[in-house]
Amino acid sequence: MTDSLARSLACIDCGASYPLTYRLECERCRGLLELRYDLERRRTAGPAIFSGTGLWRYSPVLPISDPAHRVTLGEGGTPLLDCPRLAKELGVRRLLLKCDGPNPTGTVKDRSSATAIAAALQFGYRATSVVSSGNAGSSVAAYSARAGLRSLIFAYERASAPKLLHMAATTSDLIIYKGVYDDLISIWDRLVEEKLFFDCGASRNAYKQEGKKTLAYEIAEQTAFAPPDAVVTPVAVGETFIATARGFREMREAGWIAQVPLMVAAQATRANAISRAFREGAAITPLKIGYTVAEGLAAGNPGKKGDWVLRLLREGKGIAGDAEDDEILAAQRRLARAEGIWAGPTGVATLAVLIKLLGAKQLDPAQTICAIISETGLKTEAEPPSRQGTAFDDDSLRRLVTERLAK
Ligand SMILES: *Cc1c(COP(=O)(O)O)cnc(C)c1O
Ligand SMILES: [Zn+2]
Repeated sequence: MTDSLARSLACIDCGASYPLTYRLECERCRGLLELRYDLERRRTAGPAIFSGTGLWRYSPVLPISDPAHRVTLGEGGTPLLDCPRLAKELGVRRLLLKCDGPNPTGTVKDRSSATAIAAALQFGYRATSVVSSGNAGSSVAAYSARAGLRSLIFAYERASAPKLLHMAATTSDLIIYKGVYDDLISIWDRLVEEKLFFDCGASRNAYKQEGKKTLAYEIAEQTAFAPPDAVVTPVAVGETFIATARGFREMREAGWIAQVPLMVAAQATRANAISRAFREGAAITPLKIGYTVAEGLAAGNPGKKGDWVLRLLREGKGIAGDAEDDEILAAQRRLARAEGIWAGPTGVATLAVLIKLLGAKQLDPAQTICAIISETGLKTEAEPPSRQGTAFDDDSLRRLVTERLAK
């Protein structure tokens, strides 16, 4: 007997409903699909339907029916840290950071990889594939290995060395591609349709996206179902944003929370197709992009998911913003010094955008604001500080320590 309350797939555009098979889009209108769950059960049982720890604690609201398919490396259950020192610096009443760096491969991607690879097993696939700037590749490779599946990982030529090492170690097939994500994704997506491998890309797979919904459930549980007023979420293609917004919406529908937080979409200025369209009140125009330090956010053409993000922002009265590379790097240093949290540039873009939106008075500092810090800093490649060492003796060591502490 399964505890999963998933009941159907539904088209987000025309509402057509489908059984829980592996299907990429709506047969009638080619719209994206999302999962639907038994609302009545959630309403009557309440959050007591959850048990255990980590991501699979939320299996009732995830679409994997057989527990034997629920692959895990210990993802989820990440800390929601109250950051009073940084809050004070920024003049915010309360700042909460949802730190996803402690996940098994160091990023939020492990949430979606867990449900993606579980779905690959559920639908009988032997191989997975993804096009990645590094994080998705590391994560899909690790979870595929864990599940005993072959993985074809297409990795960005400029991916950081730690990410490349990680992918090379865990995948069966590492293929480096030239150009940026957008160049390869459209032709790779055609192979997805031929079902040569299980789709671990971000553009369409509803089962994969679902894992990221657990961010919302965790934040709600960690705040005793009084979630923050605003949640700042990173946006590349939009999976994290859409899934988090859906998680909060599901809880409101079930009467578990009073309202959905203000959803804030955060992008890198060098890949800001969505926040730009939002600002201009226009449709998304795909961008030709180059390098950004926020490697995981480097998507210039977010496709249909981007339209979905824009729709959620407009319907839900959310807001969007973006930050320049130097602002992202400044936020990275600031977070490390103020709170001891070492996050990668991709992971800290949310904080950089939060700071800008406060400055522009688009966020209310009297509220409780939460930002998702989606990546550890340990996967970053950058020039290290000087390695010039000092040889100490008793005297010089004592002198240095007393001088330093006297300052
Ligand atoms: C991929 C990624 C994101 C967000 O990507 P979406 O496709 O919008 O979900 C955010 N942070 C990190 C660290 C990532 O690797
Ligand atoms: Zn449809």
